[in-house]
Amino acid sequence: MKDENCIFCKIANGEIPSTTVYEDDDFRVILDLGPASRGHALILPKEHFADVCALDEAIAAKVLPLGAKIGSAMKRSLGCAGFNLVQNNGEAAGQTVFHFHMHVIPRYEDGPVIAGWTPGKASPEELAQVAQEIKKGL
Ligand code: 5GP
Ligand code: ZN
Repeated sequence: MKDENCIFCKIANGEIPSTTVYEDDDFRVILDLGPASRGHALILPKEHFADVCALDEAIAAKVLPLGAKIGSAMKRSLGCAGFNLVQNNGEAAGQTVFHFHMHVIPRYEDGPVIAGWTPGKASPEELAQVAQEIKKGL
């Protein structure tokens, strides 16, 4: 299903032009307009899913292999030393476009930290408590 108000539906299905690096029946992979690093790409399913929770299982199963394929191509051809696969769900998590997408962000030697956090601390008791809370939601 497509969402006629969704810009990524239009891009994924070719109604709005984009710089495309890969396309198949299920996905279009485009370059991000505001790249975090040279070659930053977005994997877009052609069908509309708001986020990972809404994603069709068959499509979901294809996302990581495609991320590995694009990232490997970046290592071969752009000379990056590694890459991040980043996927935001919900405004609080930094999602700004509510059509599922996976970022593929090339990482270069001596490049800036892009996806990182400051490690916190938690006691074994706190870890056990939060694990119990998560399990309740499963
Ligand atoms: P999010 O923050 O939702 O995980 O990521 C959205 C990404 O889409 C951002 O990195 C932003 O630069 C990119 N973006 C937003 N609109 C467009 C667009 O129209 N074309 C392209 N190529 N990228 C876009
Ligand atoms: Zn969409």
